[in-house]
Formats: sequence, structure tokens, C-alpha cells
Amino acid sequence: MKTEQFDASKQSLVKAAQLLNNQEVVAFPTETVYGLGADATSEVAVSKIFKAKGRPADNPLIVHVHHPSQIKHYVTEISTMAQTLIDHFMPGPFTIILKSNGTVADTVTAGLDTVAIRVPDHKIGRALIQEANLPLAAPSANLSGKPSPTTAEHVYQDLNGRIAGIIDGGATGVGLESTVVDATGDIPVILRPGGVTKQEIEDVAGTVELTGSLKEKQPKSPGMKYNHYEPDAPLVLIDGDQIFFQKHINSYQQEGKKVGVIASKPLVNLLQADISYSCGNRDDLSEVATNLYYALRYFNDTNVDIILAETYPQVGIGDAIMNRLTKAATHHHIQNRNI
Ligand code: AMP
Ligand code: MG
Repeated sequence: MKTEQFDASKQSLVKAAQLLNNQEVVAFPTETVYGLGADATSEVAVSKIFKAKGRPADNPLIVHVHHPSQIKHYVTEISTMAQTLIDHFMPGPFTIILKSNGTVADTVTAGLDTVAIRVPDHKIGRALIQEANLPLAAPSANLSGKPSPTTAEHVYQDLNGRIAGIIDGGATGVGLESTVVDATGDIPVILRPGGVTKQEIEDVAGTVELTGSLKEKQPKSPGMKYNHYEPDAPLVLIDGDQIFFQKHINSYQQEGKKVGVIASKPLVNLLQADISYSCGNRDDLSEVATNLYYALRYFNDTNVDIILAETYPQVGIGDAIMNRLTKAATHHHIQNRNI
């Protein structure tokens, strides 16, 4: 299949919207990461998303609408608590889970009786959804298991030839996916940390629960059990100071390995590795979030054998950063101990 590359002009959005109405799959920019959109009411269209990504069929998709007022068309009811969350966080990097009224295709919800809905806070993303006049099921626009794309170039690398189109809207802002919140019960439950922090949700909704282990046997959010965000070389998280970190670099190098490092300033400038990538300043975790997937993909074009990454405090967006890094490292985590 030829993958058409679109700019963000009105003319391009009209063409991309036509593809979507013809049950094709089109990648588009949002403020979190690039999404891979298809008509959420069409089984045929949605099945093409799963095929293009190689995504397991039991991992449901988030439905993207252009305005919060559209949510009611897809759910059985919106509680007062849910409405408060919608009013405060949508549009934005926030996904709400409510009881589905069955309008979207079964493949979107993976057979669950709930549906996940988001309103992206991105001019181009929303203009496309409005132009298509469809709810768009859209996971991140990467091959399943790889880091999510934060540029159109990343999407192209993974999906060229597998999808009908890519709209280039430049680099995304937040850089990590939305916060997924189950609002079907009495209190909101965070199923996946993301762009909106736990504290921000607590400030408007009072008590908030964060689902525990990512390795729960029956995760509430089905996507939790799969490998995610993995760069080509194995990733190891190093939880310690400069001396500790350098010792680990040296030890891998002594084994003859080429070592890549992902760290923030100032640490990144103090370490000596084969290749280092700075993901911003440690005192600005939103900058680290913006650059994280870029950093993970950066090493795919190098010949490093192993990537060592710094850890971050789990406060604010640090929750989401550590959630993604821990999964990317498939749980290789070296605590501060001597070697
Ligand atoms: P992605 O499409 O890669 O951004 O992942 C979407 C996330 O939302 C995955 O972790 C899904 O498991 C989760 N999700 C989507 N729909 C639901 C739902 N109805 N209930 C629980 N989790 C959901
Ligand atoms: Mg994803």
C-alpha cells in the first residue's frame, strides 16, 4: 500500500478525511503522541489498525472525538464525578472510561462493556476529526511494542506501506500518552499515568486511586500486560548517583559492549559513555517527558549494545515517565548497590 504524506493544510485534511470515510487508516498529530486513526464505528476500518500495528486484539483502543459535548453519544451515562473530570481535563491529555452504549465497534472496546474516550488538545488533530465527522479509534501510531512516535518521521519509519496516510503536524508537545482514568465507579481510578498528574485529578475530584502492580494477573486496563516502548537495544534503568552510574557504564564496556546513555542535565554531561543523549533538565520533568520517546528511538540508528537510563522522582509527570521507562526496560532496574 502507498502511504500518502500530507501537510496540515485544509486541502490535505479534506483528503485525509476522505480516506477515513473510506475505512482507511491515517496517522495524525495530537498533543501527546501521533495517533493511528480509523472510523471507530466500523469493524473493517478498526481491524486495519490492529493489522498495521501488529496489536493484540484484546488491547482496546481509545476513541477520539473533537469536542467534550460528543462524549454522550457513546456512553450510557455520565456521573457528576465524570462530568467534573470532563469539564476540567478535556480537551487534554486525559482519557475517560465510561460504560459503552454499544455505538462503537466491538473491536474498539475488545469486547469490554466500557469505552475509553479522549478529546485531543491539538488544532490539527481536532480539525481532522471534525472534517471526517467520525469518532476515531486511535492508538499510538507505532508498531506494537515500540516507543510511541512524537514526530511524523517516527510514524513513517514504523508504518510506511502499512497505512493509507500520515499527516505531518510537527513534533508533539507532551510527548507521553494520556492519563487513562476509569470513571465508572464512585472514585476515579488511574489505569495509566500520563500527561495529567494524579495531584491535578485529586485537586478537582478528591480521592483518586492509582492501580497497583503493572503485572497484575488480570489488569483492569488490558494494555498493561504487554511489552511496550522498547528500543532495539536492551534498556537498563540505573538508580544511583554519578559514580554508581559510571561504574555500570565501565563494567558493560569491559564486557566489550558499546554503551548508550539516556540522562538529563547535569548528569548527562558528567558521564562518559560511547553515545549519550540528553533528554533535558532534571529540574523540568515535563521537558524530560517531551524528549523521552525521541531518546529511546534515537539509539535505534546507532550501534549501541545496551542503553543505560537515569531514573526520575515519581512526582507529577515523573509518575508517567517512570511508568514508561520501567516498561521499556522490561523491568531491568539496578538499584543503588555496589557491584
Ligand atoms: P494506546 O492506544 O497505546 O495509547 O493504549 C490505550 C490504553 O488504554 C491501553 O492501555 C488500553 O488497555 C487502555 N484502554 C482502552 N480502552 C479501555 C477500556 N475500555 N478499559 C480499560 N482500559 C482501556
Ligand atoms: Mg501505544
